[in-house]
Amino acid sequence: MALMNENYQRLPGSYLFSEIARRINQFKSENPNADIIRLGIGDVTRPLPPAVTEAMKKAVDEMGKAETFRGYGPEQGYDFLIEKIIENDYRPRGVDLSLDEVYVSDGAKSDTANFQEIFGIGNIMAVTDPVYPVYVDSNVMAGRTGNFNGEKGQYESIIYLPCTEENGMKPSLPTTHVDMIYLCFPNNPTGMTLTKEELKEWVDYARENKSIILYDSAYEAFIREEGVPRTIFEIEGAREVAVEFRSFSKTAGFTGTRCAYTVVPKEVMVYDSEGKAHSLNKLWLRRQTTKFNGVSYPVQAAAAAIYTPEGKQQVKETIDYYMENARIIREGLTEAGYEVFGGINAPYIWMKTPKNMGSWEFFDKLMKEANVVGTPGAGFGANGEGYFRLTAFGTRENTVKAIERIKTKMES
Ligand code: PLP
Repeated sequence: MALMNENYQRLPGSYLFSEIARRINQFKSENPNADIIRLGIGDVTRPLPPAVTEAMKKAVDEMGKAETFRGYGPEQGYDFLIEKIIENDYRPRGVDLSLDEVYVSDGAKSDTANFQEIFGIGNIMAVTDPVYPVYVDSNVMAGRTGNFNGEKGQYESIIYLPCTEENGMKPSLPTTHVDMIYLCFPNNPTGMTLTKEELKEWVDYARENKSIILYDSAYEAFIREEGVPRTIFEIEGAREVAVEFRSFSKTAGFTGTRCAYTVVPKEVMVYDSEGKAHSLNKLWLRRQTTKFNGVSYPVQAAAAAIYTPEGKQQVKETIDYYMENARIIREGLTEAGYEVFGGINAPYIWMKTPKNMGSWEFFDKLMKEANVVGTPGAGFGANGEGYFRLTAFGTRENTVKAIERIKTKMES
């Protein structure tokens, strides 16, 4: 009899987006003519930039010719892409990285989920609440957490750092020791950012406590304001304590193409039970070379095209398009009397539900009355209750229409 990994029994029954899909399907079957606008799931709607598709086609042609065919590539990614990443995403920020500190992958979801496996199972982890669910669920699967406490809506033995209206959606430092800290800025779901000074407090905490910050900056490209750190490595000392996850998914429409990268500086150390230091970079290399065979050559060639002058211009246009949607949503909701967060340096708008309405209740009401679908805050954690997430990744037409409907068909 094959036994299961019983940690999986601790997970909630269904992934948030499956429950949303179930409710939409039920509504559609009862209201077949309803014109539903989806501003819920965080997928993009703009196509890949032309510079990207051209580079991908060229690379595909190379793969079809004996002289230019490529088989397995380096597990960590091709140097031609890593060089571009360092040159464009880090050097202008005063951050110098070596080629072997950047690991190209097929997604920030897999990287943020997989990274925990190189840490000891007894480590104490901290997450913000609300949170991108992958950090929590991957640690649950690994057995690093206790059981789910249904009443609290939280797992035992995870330290939750509430992000609420009271603290402006900015988490406070933990009051007890933690070893692994997941931070995501610009944040999904709240759309909020930290200043350099605020982020420095986290780096200082991690240095004092020999903790490691797992910093997800999948939405870095959406930062508009000066003074908001573009990478955690802009912060003094971060190279000793932080790992950074980035993705081309939202930056350049790669959600269906799959390419991302993770930066693991050589200074970051983890310790064995005798207190001896080990390089996290070396452990991640060992893990990746064992379990991952790299991202396909055409996809990496496509990702490198983002950094050409045309690629940069085209990516900028796409991001401007989404950020104009964000402005429309943010200002529209504010005019309609809702309280909103985010949407300035991020493609997410986090709104407070009216009259303390539960977030699933608001989901149903919005779908029924305005035929607009968003994401209930409760799906991101106990402190997401009473909030609702809308995304700027829709088409302009749908975004304008959705806000118009919220203004005219809903009372806030
Ligand atoms: N990290 C955050 C915070 C996200 O919101 C998402 C996607 O929604 C990801 C990572 C996943 O990115 P990828 O498409 O690269 O797997």
